[in-house]
Amino acid sequence: MGLRPAGASAVMTETTAPSSARRGLHVITWGCQMNVYDSARMSDVLRPLGYQPVELPDAADMIILNTCHIRDKAAEKVFSELGRLRLIKEARKAEGQQTIIAVAGCVAQAEGQEILTRAPYVDIVLGPQTYHRLPEMVARAARAGGAVIDTDFPAEQKFDFLPEAAAPQTKGNYTSFLTIQEGCDKFCSFCVVPYTRGAESSRPVTSVLAEARRMAESGVQDITLLGQNVNAYHGEGPDGTVWGLAQLAYELAKIPGLSRIRYSTSHPRDMDDALINAHRDLPELMPFLHLPVQSGSDRILAAMNRGHTADQYRDIVLKLRAVRPDLALSSDFIVGHPGETDEDFEATMQLVRDVKFALAYSFKYSQRPGTPAAGAPLQVPEDVKDARLQALQALLRQQQDEFNATLVGKTIPVLFTGEGRKPGQIVGRSPWLQPIHVQGPHSLIGQTFSVKVTERLTNSLSGELVEETEYA
Ligand code: SAM
Ligand code: SF4
Repeated sequence: MGLRPAGASAVMTETTAPSSARRGLHVITWGCQMNVYDSARMSDVLRPLGYQPVELPDAADMIILNTCHIRDKAAEKVFSELGRLRLIKEARKAEGQQTIIAVAGCVAQAEGQEILTRAPYVDIVLGPQTYHRLPEMVARAARAGGAVIDTDFPAEQKFDFLPEAAAPQTKGNYTSFLTIQEGCDKFCSFCVVPYTRGAESSRPVTSVLAEARRMAESGVQDITLLGQNVNAYHGEGPDGTVWGLAQLAYELAKIPGLSRIRYSTSHPRDMDDALINAHRDLPELMPFLHLPVQSGSDRILAAMNRGHTADQYRDIVLKLRAVRPDLALSSDFIVGHPGETDEDFEATMQLVRDVKFALAYSFKYSQRPGTPAAGAPLQVPEDVKDARLQALQALLRQQQDEFNATLVGKTIPVLFTGEGRKPGQIVGRSPWLQPIHVQGPHSLIGQTFSVKVTERLTNSLSGELVEETEYA
């Protein structure tokens, strides 16, 4: 595994050169699945410098906060965590130990210098597109020439400069995330992503396939392709043509051992017929799709700049269910976008009743500086947002319970991923992503077995092994 220098300016120095000295690295991750993937890749980049994960920040020579800027609460958490880390840094300094504190991710991208003003003990501020340059930044920070900020959108693609992923990107070896697309050109009125993650770009097909093969060879069976608009994927194919997500999915499905393929997050505008048909053709594409709709009101969807109507969303769902009747949907909703009236909110509730979701995430609209909706008139009062969120969440919770109830009594394939909390229990994942517990031997972990679902619990299922028959 070789670490390639980041751009023409990269020079191997004492601190960027591979090192056998062991250093502790503690990464704290907030936000989306892509941040989870990015955190693992930052660890990969730092490994040749001797950095190994440590559980506690007190034992870390470097602490990275990988941050989320999507809602104001998420961003504020960073500053309270930094206050705690300052004390650790001071205590270690008193013992003669240096601690590098780095703030990465979308808060770093959006707030840059502001972070150093509020927390001058931070050594490195880096955006989501520059973490391949971390070794250089560490070298500069270690030379103690003041803090380093790198929040560029570099011309080079970071994926061309990252070392191979060392290990699957999640806990356990059987499931993993794989980023294939980043950024967004859609500019929804409420959203910071186009500003923090930059323009839409897709990794080339060969690079994605190579990473997926390595994951499969290391035991991964259930893979989630990630992108802010993953179904807008348009990667350069080995033949020089542009491949969409459907074409990529057919190729991934040929990789031995990859039995489950998922992708997240999709945009309704990019849900084309080729992708819908891939759900018909590929049993490897799991029957569970996260397809955010945000609102059921055409007026609000237009104000949000979503580029589709509520009925167009309903049509996509009908098409998907026609080709894959067992397909379940999850979604994201925002209540209280500027201008949202009671009628608009009722249209959202109606869409939920019509579509029926197996799972959903719902949020109160949060004003994000620099986005068009932040300065829009008719901001919705907080108590109205609270009441709408409560009503929506009650309906979504009921639908989630109803969906889980439909599985009780059915026999479903479960990929076992680890031990359960109780003695003799193992836990796995259903095709619809619910955790499911059974009593069974440890030896089944890493395999897919038929399980009869016996009970639905609040956020999981329990079941019984069906004569320990491996699921074919
Ligand atoms: N690309 C995805 C899409 O188009 O639906 C969404 C990605 S965004 C990182 C995840 C979710 O955060 C969004 O679907 C939206 O529901 C929520 N979100 C984004 N900005 C928000 C804001 N300003 N206030 C509340 N929720 C927000
Ligand atoms: Fe944000 Fe809209 Fe882009 Fe999704 S599509 S990342 S919500 S701007």
